[in-house]
Amino acid sequence: MNILVINCGSSSLKFQLINAESEEVLAKGLCERIGIDGRLTYQPAGGEKEISEKAMPTHTEAIQFVIDALTNEKTGVVKSLSEIGAVGHRIVHGGEKFASSVVITEEVKKAVEECNDLAPLHNPANLIGVEACEKLMPGTPMVAVFDTAFHQTMPEKAYMYGLPYEYYEKYKVRRYGFHGTSHSYVSKKAAEVMEKAYDEVKTIVCHLGNGASVSAVLNGKSVDTSMGLTPLEGLVMGTRSGDIDPAIMEFIAQKENLDIEGIMNVLNKKSGVFGLSGGISSDFRDLTGAMAEGDKKAKIALEVFAYRVAKYIGAYAAAMNGVDDIVFTAGIGENVSYVREQVCSYLGYLGVELDPDANEKFRGEQGEITKPGCKVRVFVIPTNEELAIARETLALVK
Ligand code: AMP
Repeated sequence: MNILVINCGSSSLKFQLINAESEEVLAKGLCERIGIDGRLTYQPAGGEKEISEKAMPTHTEAIQFVIDALTNEKTGVVKSLSEIGAVGHRIVHGGEKFASSVVITEEVKKAVEECNDLAPLHNPANLIGVEACEKLMPGTPMVAVFDTAFHQTMPEKAYMYGLPYEYYEKYKVRRYGFHGTSHSYVSKKAAEVMEKAYDEVKTIVCHLGNGASVSAVLNGKSVDTSMGLTPLEGLVMGTRSGDIDPAIMEFIAQKENLDIEGIMNVLNKKSGVFGLSGGISSDFRDLTGAMAEGDKKAKIALEVFAYRVAKYIGAYAAAMNGVDDIVFTAGIGENVSYVREQVCSYLGYLGVELDPDANEKFRGEQGEITKPGCKVRVFVIPTNEELAIARETLALVK
């Protein structure tokens, strides 16, 4: 069965068409600037990438262009819509309602809408993508795969904040965690590589991309993760601050004459390694380049980033009373050997012994970067959230 995987943002939409049995990507692409003007990038497997400007006033037109591209006589990969058996949608926030993926019904859409408050930038956009697909592909089953679902196994002690309990009761203020599809996919893969049962290993996953989070996966279940009610908590990220003393918010608001919206804008968009580096970049290619040329702030940004990751690993090793393996994934985790080396330099006490040659070698590909026989094994495992969504979708619609 061919499954269309959709990741819909407020003005963009990423898609992949995957043959769920062979797990082959038949085509992939991106619609950008939806509601502004519109641009479609489309690439069939083994074919040239095509970029075309197309008017996309809403997501419905964007999806229609995706369908047209996939079924195009010359560059398409299927003859008609009937060859697309299901659609898997990435939905960011499932709140406490969704601990696993579900087939989308009117009731599910309503429940997702009820989580809009918790992810105001993402969930409404995700739902628009669902509705546009429903309109253009009536009768095709749709599945919702939630970023938060994998972390619903966290115990209360991990998800409750030290706040008045009534905020949890009234507003569901608690840790939810994100990147669940990725944490689940790579932790499972690591168990396979180690030839161990998934429900018998203690894994720490470092998903280090533009957004970044660490999770503790004990016997196949997430027991803690660094992102919280929102994806702002935890690690220092591309432009997000991660953990700070909450009192800094009032202090800076007064000094800089900012309201809460202004402060949130600083914490989400002007902080992280971008802010720390004095605005050089949020991209680690630029930061490592600047550091190599002697830029002090770029060096500090990279040091703070790696130190925070190492501290979370220490915390999660404590939470699980040990760790068998650590996985690096996502853009930075898969590619930036300098960050991996820095993080591992703090982990000797756990029994991590980095193999410097292997660490340099594995960029964007799967490999083990600790020395043979090492007590705690460290892996680079490329994440594949689209494939994970396709697998979940197949399992539910089969
Ligand atoms: P992601 O959010 O997983 O797509 O990761 C995006 C981030 O990964 C970028 O901002 C870069 O900092 C980093 N990244 C991706 N590819 C590379 C690469 N080849 N070398 C260094 N950093 C990379």
